[in-house]
Amino acid sequence: MKKVAILGSTGSIGTQTLDVVSANPDDLEVVAISASSNIKMLEEQIRQFHPRLCAVYNEDKAKELEANIKDVTPACRIVSGMDGLIELAVMEESDIIITAVVGMIGIVPTIEAIKAGKDIGLANKETLVTAGHIIMPLAKEKGVSILPVDSEHSAIFQCLNGERDNHISKILLTASGGPFRGMTREQLSGVTLEMALKHPNWSMGRKITIDSSTMVNKGLEVIEAKWLFGVEPSQIEVVVQPQSIIHSMVEFDDGAVMAQLGTPDMRLPIQYALYYPKRIFLDGKRLDFSTLSEITFSKPDPDTFLGLRFAYSAIETGGSMPTVFNAANECAVARFLDGKIRFLEIYEMIDYCMKNHKNIDNPDVAQILETEKWVYDSIESRWN
Ligand code: NDP
Ligand code: MG
Repeated sequence: MKKVAILGSTGSIGTQTLDVVSANPDDLEVVAISASSNIKMLEEQIRQFHPRLCAVYNEDKAKELEANIKDVTPACRIVSGMDGLIELAVMEESDIIITAVVGMIGIVPTIEAIKAGKDIGLANKETLVTAGHIIMPLAKEKGVSILPVDSEHSAIFQCLNGERDNHISKILLTASGGPFRGMTREQLSGVTLEMALKHPNWSMGRKITIDSSTMVNKGLEVIEAKWLFGVEPSQIEVVVQPQSIIHSMVEFDDGAVMAQLGTPDMRLPIQYALYYPKRIFLDGKRLDFSTLSEITFSKPDPDTFLGLRFAYSAIETGGSMPTVFNAANECAVARFLDGKIRFLEIYEMIDYCMKNHKNIDNPDVAQILETEKWVYDSIESRWN
């Protein structure tokens, strides 16, 4: 029985992780769940999955939930705040943590989980983008596996099976291009929040859906791939593949290209991370090559969708710059989701912060979090 703890169990990845657990009760058990404040869903999850621990970031909501689940047996302990997330990360009973929180809040719990020797099913890409230089060596030192959940990185990971000693010539990171593929900058100036929230192929949380529309998501994924697979950014090529059938590819030195294909369903990479290296049955749609009319490819347009351009520049500079790129995006997207800024202002905010930041080499966790604060303060004083 594999014991699973989930950071962010109420979100898109979190609930799909629970779907995988539900489908495999003989192999998987949920020992801990957590969220920011959605205690209604947490209560339902506690009653269905009987975890021993539940971390609620919001302290008042934690108290409310504690009162609401008094009748549940066996009892589920409720913890709160960052201390609560860390308690979940290091709890004795778990084997693997699925990091399904959104944003940089995942950094500290992920690091603590690795220190405690837990394997990580990593969905929370913002953590690797900002702290990859700390996380990857630490994972190696502690002998823990970082198993990618992001569909592209899971695809690359699958393509690398049995290829450990072979050199990767290139990673071909596929992108759907998002809802605004083919638009000009002028057309982008008029897009609304509602339009940006409609992803053509994937149903995901709100923040990553906006990130897909700006191509910041793909930029974050380039940096994520650099850390996960130890390649140079120049070896990572983004290929637009609008049908989201090819989830990514790897080219080797002999020119052979391995690809992983499938219908867009996040339960597959989640399940693969939970069962690695085993494959088990997954109840879902299959690709039907007799009706699949085409798989098309094109180049991204980094002059219009600046997300990619910023990402390559941030990773080239290194140090704290990827944190600035990520944090400015998190701050800007939160404002866009609140209806406070226009779509193109997301790029303006990232650009402004990256241009004004004094880079810190090899930042530790405290410096990463200070950089995050600097970004929020800079945006606040420039835009309010
Ligand atoms: P959602 O917005 O759907 O869910 C986010 C989860 O994080 C919720 O459970 C939320 O709780 C929780 N959360 C947010 N803030 C905190 C906090 N301070 N403390 C504890 N929990 C918190 O996001 P997604 O599931 O879409 O994405 C999660 C991560 O996975 C992101 O990093 C994303 O980039 C990545 N990812 C997602 C994919 C997808 O298909 N959705 C695909 C590939 C990667 P609450 O409900 O209370 O707010
Ligand atoms: Mg992805």
